[in-house]
Amino acid sequence: MNADLHCHSTVSDGLLAPAAVVRRAHGNGVELLALTDHDEIGGLAEARAAADALGVKFLDGTEISVSWGDDQTVHIVALGFDPAYVPLVQGLGQVRGGRDSRAMRMAEELDKVGIHGAYEGALKYVGNPALISRSHFARYIVELGHARDVKSVFDWWLAKGKPGYVSHPWATFEDAMGWIAGAGGIAVIAHPGRYRLSRAELHQMFGVFKDLGGRGIEVISGSHNAEMTSEYANVARKFGFLASRASDFHGPGESYADLGKLPLLPEDLTPVWSEFF
Ligand code: AMP
Ligand code: MN
Ligand code: MN
Ligand code: MN
Repeated sequence: MNADLHCHSTVSDGLLAPAAVVRRAHGNGVELLALTDHDEIGGLAEARAAADALGVKFLDGTEISVSWGDDQTVHIVALGFDPAYVPLVQGLGQVRGGRDSRAMRMAEELDKVGIHGAYEGALKYVGNPALISRSHFARYIVELGHARDVKSVFDWWLAKGKPGYVSHPWATFEDAMGWIAGAGGIAVIAHPGRYRLSRAELHQMFGVFKDLGGRGIEVISGSHNAEMTSEYANVARKFGFLASRASDFHGPGESYADLGKLPLLPEDLTPVWSEFF
């Protein structure tokens, strides 16, 4: 099955509205899609309606920002939950609530290095006032001509250790996992190849994730090269994780992988969607 269980719409930091994401996925041959906006579920109803109209199978999703260890951010994708589950809805609301003041602090830091008006500039790219992200800053900084693309903006200004980065407390691992479990969903580690953690630190994190009820890991990811795919396929085998296939599509021209245009999962792994279909 051509499944893609990780992508973004204008409800977070994607470039396309939820229904347009679904139409593009369908056009690319995707048979099962999950929309996973950052810390948001506000696009799910629109996306599901579009998926139903086109005969695309759909899973409710969200990508929760979680703090781990010493100022690391880990992303947990939640799939197939009840979007009306109140602790999840309220928990995500709290996570989003911290973003605006974080964005103002980012703008202050950027101002010191000569990038002025970044908060207002980023807002021009925001589709959902509750969800301002580094991606929106990146688009504005490209507009200013300080970098040629969004990826370079992160390398120069927004990644950890760069001038516009500010540390921020996201959800705790325990809280996020509790919301997902309570809502009847499955938790999946997003793009494990992207974290700046040693292998030992990563494996420790996978162990904690599993102890908290975590079930899945993205083996195929738009952020992974072939070496990472084989590394995280081995992690899935070792920890007994279900495997996900995930473009992390944000928009045309802005993502490493387009919707559904990804290698297939290694055949011996159990797809995370076998829990649902
Ligand atoms: P935030 O949740 O505000 O910290 O923003 C995180 C988002 O920034 C990610 O979901 C990506 O969309 C984007 N991002 C992070 N690092 C990079 C990078 N190196 N290149 C391009 N986009 C990135
Ligand atoms: Mn993003
Ligand atoms: Mn992510
Ligand atoms: Mn993502």
